[in-house]
Amino acid sequence: MKIGVLAIQGAVREHIRHIELSGYEGIAIKRVEQLDEIDGLILPGGESTTLRRLMDLYGFKEKLQQLDLPMFGTCAGLIVLAKNVENESGYLNKLDITVERNSFGRQVDSFESELDIKGIANDIEGVFIRAPHIAKVDNGVEILSKVGGKIVAVKQGQYLGVSFHPELTDDYRITKYFIEHMIKH
Ligand code: GLN
Repeated sequence: MKIGVLAIQGAVREHIRHIELSGYEGIAIKRVEQLDEIDGLILPGGESTTLRRLMDLYGFKEKLQQLDLPMFGTCAGLIVLAKNVENESGYLNKLDITVERNSFGRQVDSFESELDIKGIANDIEGVFIRAPHIAKVDNGVEILSKVGGKIVAVKQGQYLGVSFHPELTDDYRITKYFIEHMIKH
């Protein structure tokens, strides 16, 4: 099985490392045609406005909307997967959620928190960097984790989204879960 990491912005190498630690082949995806070679795609964090602009420019939006490719979005990648984004439009429309960007307050630009993630583990270190949270979920979306009452991890069909950066720790259990439980073999 081959797992791609969208390689137009953000922490690409770190995600590829987690894919390899999980026992699979990780590929940096720079061109739309490469999407045909992979079984699942990780959308890394970064800046969602930049990510959206570059995805438009390279034709990723159209192709990803057509495909049923399983996807895992982290931080800005979660924002890109959402149907609604507070005060702006949604983008890929794969997760029936409303996200609020930079929503943990200006004073707390980044923080870490131990997370209980349903079905995965109860001791995952979450690294949050100017993170969004999920303000609203529609029917069919499963809430996997919360921090201080705010939803930070969800799943719907073959789409997984988290507010934080799992790739910045050595713990690759979420990536392994995505590959082994959310991609049909
Ligand atoms: N603040 C960024 C945004 O709104 C996300 C931050 C991140 O991916 N670490 O797009």
